[in-house]
Amino acid sequence: MTHRAVPASPVLAVLLLASMVGCARSATDSDRPSSLLIEVFDGSTMGTTYMARVVTAEPWDDARREQTRASVQSALDAVESAMSHFQLASEVSRFNQTRSTEPFPLSSPTFEVVRTALELAQLTDGAIDITVAPLVNAWGFGPTEPDLLPPDADQLLRLRSRVGFRKLELDEPTSTVRKTDPQLEWDLSSVAKGYGVDRVAAALRDEGETRFMVEVGGEIVASGLNHLHQPWRIGIERPSDRGGIQRVVPLSNLALATSGDYRNVREVEGHLVSHTIDPRTGRPVDHRLASVSVIAESCLMADGMATALEVLGPDEGYDLAVERGWAALFLTRDGDVITARATPAFDRLAPDGGTME
Ligand code: ADP
Ligand code: MG
Repeated sequence: MTHRAVPASPVLAVLLLASMVGCARSATDSDRPSSLLIEVFDGSTMGTTYMARVVTAEPWDDARREQTRASVQSALDAVESAMSHFQLASEVSRFNQTRSTEPFPLSSPTFEVVRTALELAQLTDGAIDITVAPLVNAWGFGPTEPDLLPPDADQLLRLRSRVGFRKLELDEPTSTVRKTDPQLEWDLSSVAKGYGVDRVAAALRDEGETRFMVEVGGEIVASGLNHLHQPWRIGIERPSDRGGIQRVVPLSNLALATSGDYRNVREVEGHLVSHTIDPRTGRPVDHRLASVSVIAESCLMADGMATALEVLGPDEGYDLAVERGWAALFLTRDGDVITARATPAFDRLAPDGGTME
């Protein structure tokens, strides 16, 4: 992890170019309305990059920087070591290894993440389903090496019989989870990054910070106002060869998460397949939706909602988001033409501030 006392250079191989808009007017611009600075902390976690930007009146000394750096990193490490299915000793991996149907104790962060993911599964009729792990593995996006050939119809049927969020039972008083099918395995990747962002935001608040932006792999929380005394301006990337920013979202005291079909893909028999699996078919999603971004109170929720809408696609997903009052922006692709469709709640929270090339 590194830190700097000035905004980072235009960055990120991530979905949302969070810093790009801010960097157009950096903290050292001569036309800035105040002498506020931004302390930047960045590094890697959960197989992706992260960045935290904290607004401050004075440059921090090394001790203060080190303390904040450590609390940001330890918030992320805690989430990764509990919830990564790539780490053998994580709670997620240990639950995957056991074939016991007895209650399995969970730490309270993991319990919270699982409870939220199951609530979203109920609301979306299983579009987001954390028990999708065997399918994620079979398509080559999990911790196990996939077969050379993609799963055929019979294999898919077999794998799908092991999937189903209703086979998990949570018990709040004892903070335990139970698999009713010994074969059940889970995967919290659809929500862990968002939760990590929430944990970093909480750690910064514990340090007394109120004005900051945190981003992990494109999932974002913005708190208070930026160094220009405005809501943070987040650029939603245009997912086409032309690139650029599709829409600038002003964000303050809210979270924004994006799921896309084009960042995490692999080639299977000459086709690019997405890492988002439709639990109804057992196959990677295959529709015109290039990305969907969701604004919510917590990044955990926003991350899970974005995954669910990515599964449901541009029509069913849009209808569900409108029906539930979710703030979502759908970008659909037709050739190289990208079309944006926002739900009324998204337009209310983030009035269209135009596009940027
Ligand atoms: P991103 O924001 O990077 O697009 P997501 O938050 O959508 O990623 O999570 C995708 C990951 O979640 C996949 O890599 C896989 O591990 C897991 N996953 C894939 N499909 C589903 C699903 N339908 N429900 C829950 N988790 C899923
Ligand atoms: Mg997600």
